[in-house]
Amino acid sequence: MRSVLSAAAALLLAGSASIAFAQTGAPLPASVTSNLPRNARPLHYRIDVRPDAQKLTFAGTASITLEVYEPSDALTLNANELTVASAKLFPASGKGAPIALGVKPDSKAEQVRFVAARPIRPGRYRLDVVYSGKINTQANGLFALDYPDERTGKTVRSLFTQFEAPDGRRFAPEFDEPAYKATFELSAVVPANQMALSNTPIARSVPEGAGFKHVYFQPTPKMSSYLLFFATGDFDRVATKAANGVEIGVVAPAGSGEQGRYAMDSLASLLPYYDEYFGQKFPLPKLDNIAGPGQSQFFSAMENWGAIFTFNRALLNDPANTSAARLQAIYETQAHETAHQWFGDMVTMAWWDDIWLNEGFASWMETKATDHFHPEWFPLLDRVGGREAAMGLDSFKTTHPVVQHMRSVEEINQAFDSITYQKGEAVISMLEAFAGEDTWRSGIRSYIAAHKYANARTDELWQAVEAAGAPGLTAIAHDFTTQPGIPLVRAEATCTGGQTALTLTQGEFSRDRKDEAATNPGHWRVPLLVEAGPESAGAPPVRTVLQGSASLSVPGCGPVIVNGGQLGYFRTLYAPEMLQKLQAAMPRLKPIDQLGLVRDNVALAGAGYQPGAPAFDLLAAIPGDANPVVAQSTVNIWGGLYDLLQAGKDKAALAGQLRRLWLPRLQALGFDPRAGEPLVDANLRAELIATLGKMGDASVVEQARGRFAKLASDPHALDGPLKTTWLNIAAKNASAADWQLLSELAAGTKSATARSTYYELLGAAKDPALARKALDFALTGKAGTTSAAIITSVSGSNPELAYDFTMAHRAEVEKLVDDSGRSSFYRRLVGSSVDPAMVGKLEALRASLPADQQRPIGQAISALKDRLENYPKMRVALHDWLAAHPA
Ligand SMILES: [Zn+2]
Repeated sequence: MRSVLSAAAALLLAGSASIAFAQTGAPLPASVTSNLPRNARPLHYRIDVRPDAQKLTFAGTASITLEVYEPSDALTLNANELTVASAKLFPASGKGAPIALGVKPDSKAEQVRFVAARPIRPGRYRLDVVYSGKINTQANGLFALDYPDERTGKTVRSLFTQFEAPDGRRFAPEFDEPAYKATFELSAVVPANQMALSNTPIARSVPEGAGFKHVYFQPTPKMSSYLLFFATGDFDRVATKAANGVEIGVVAPAGSGEQGRYAMDSLASLLPYYDEYFGQKFPLPKLDNIAGPGQSQFFSAMENWGAIFTFNRALLNDPANTSAARLQAIYETQAHETAHQWFGDMVTMAWWDDIWLNEGFASWMETKATDHFHPEWFPLLDRVGGREAAMGLDSFKTTHPVVQHMRSVEEINQAFDSITYQKGEAVISMLEAFAGEDTWRSGIRSYIAAHKYANARTDELWQAVEAAGAPGLTAIAHDFTTQPGIPLVRAEATCTGGQTALTLTQGEFSRDRKDEAATNPGHWRVPLLVEAGPESAGAPPVRTVLQGSASLSVPGCGPVIVNGGQLGYFRTLYAPEMLQKLQAAMPRLKPIDQLGLVRDNVALAGAGYQPGAPAFDLLAAIPGDANPVVAQSTVNIWGGLYDLLQAGKDKAALAGQLRRLWLPRLQALGFDPRAGEPLVDANLRAELIATLGKMGDASVVEQARGRFAKLASDPHALDGPLKTTWLNIAAKNASAADWQLLSELAAGTKSATARSTYYELLGAAKDPALARKALDFALTGKAGTTSAAIITSVSGSNPELAYDFTMAHRAEVEKLVDDSGRSSFYRRLVGSSVDPAMVGKLEALRASLPADQQRPIGQAISALKDRLENYPKMRVALHDWLAAHPA
């Protein structure tokens, strides 16, 4: 999963899957967590559904071949919001009478018990269940998306499924836990003129009369239930064959199929690359990526095996609307979901405790594959930003270890956070660097080979890599995954005889328990790569694993970087004179070290570990001709500092600094895209326009006004990669007339992507009256799955308003948010609040929630208290620094 877009031809593909169905002959071992009794296991599901898209219901039959291991008076499966009409058990041998079963639903446990009048003897059976279910309007289970038809503008409806985390049970009674792998054969009755899709190609399609057809899909390989997929609608499909013979398809709402070509070409090259990396050929005959015209507060894409689902904006390249950053995200999202086809789908975590391995690995692999195909985007530099996102959560006492035990569905939903994704990626990057690229890959290959079509646990991966030639890796991995928090490495240096003697001490970095972390820090084995700066070019880096403290010798007396290449998950607190040398050398350091040093030091200043001035000095030392990705981050950090200042002289002074340092770069890039320019330049231009625009730079504001004014007479006036950038500036500063224009553009466009973009912008207005109007509009639900995004958008400039409104209309707002995303929705709403009164409000909310829903609110409280405590200090530090550095 990736966290936060013509007449239908029947999909008929040549060839059929030849998959060996390895069957498992034993009950689930006690070592694997399960909420189901261990008396039975599914082998094969035949599921047939008949959706009624207009009534938002469906009828289903499930025929489940299963093995019963012990005499049992009942079989328990998962079911959620399903109504079971009848259930019967047939001996698989065909001999003996069917056993009638009573039905005992347990909605709280999301289970259904099928109770037999006499004990069921061990053996193989077929369980037939006739049931009905509901079609949701948020992305849980089988769900509907309503959107404008690109050709006619008329509202149409398509159906899709989303089963992770455990929502397969909303589609059919299932053993809906990842360790219960089985094969699936899905069939469905759909309108004859629609395209139906699932994990596998269609085996046959039979006319059903009355304008319907019965579509039968080929059996899937053995897989977990959360990976099953189904969709039906009026779609276009563009397809090609990858070099490995697998058919690649991108499926989009009818009329927008051509927008799928960029994604299709990307997928076609990624798939053979992964074949090679993982050492296993992709086992399905086709891989589709299906666009969903809508959005979720929980995810942007899902790795269903052979049938990835991705919201429009993260999949389709619409030249009128897609920004350069979005184009890059389309690529990276596919790299992520395609990595899951092996890591997650072919080999699956035994239980949700290890979801981090799925997501951390796919995030890491996404960056690695993107770097392979697009080194000119410098994707490895983004790892510094990912590490920072993880540390943003990990530096508070409300954090959690990467590996955490989970029981309830709610806990599982909450696990899709930046610890799981970004800390996961950061730790894996560090471990790959420790093992070496080749050793790491051969460990991965043997892990995949050993567990394919089955389940595994985190430790089995560490053991595989350690066995491939990385002694000591498991111990380091345990330190970083089983305990929460961030190591802090203090560095001091003295220079004698042309050598730097370095003293390193490991402590712990924390924002809200600094005293405790100082007296009783966690202990980590920290892999270090210590590099002498450019003055000692050619000197090999010193590799060591820091335990407690260490003394090292580095050649030369120039600057020293403790976290060379920035792959270590820790912060470095340099002695002042070391920092001064680094600042002087800044323009000559590697881009990744420039970025890492700046991020580290801004965070260390923000948390009070060192004064602000050295961090601001480092930021200002990033040269105006820096690598475009470094420049983009630098400008973004300045923008964040600008936000924390209160209106007044300091704010103006900071804007002046930024103009002095970075306006020339924007002038060199120009206000308009240039043919053939590097993507990273386009990204930098968008960032410069956004940040300088926010700071009220006259030239940018004038451009924004002029461009937006043209929209009234020509809705396509802003079309192109900078459209959302210009619109964002206009929407933030919108007048009532501008707001009205945006709302008319939303209603008037035939593009689902453009419509949701316009709707979201309604919430961006700083003017509280307009923000209030946007909230009222969101509540009508007219914006469909974008409704909740409007509220989130309001929270950018008006967090208290968005929060109070949500609390006042809680039941109605919660209907607009998918179940899985609810717990993190509140946290996001208050992410930019600096209102002390909000602490009490959040504490009251937390107290009102069940224990397993409290953590995200606790995290929001920690972050808010931190802003309340540290922003005033940062304001003082910035004031002093700005006074000493007149622009
Ligand atoms: Zn994922």
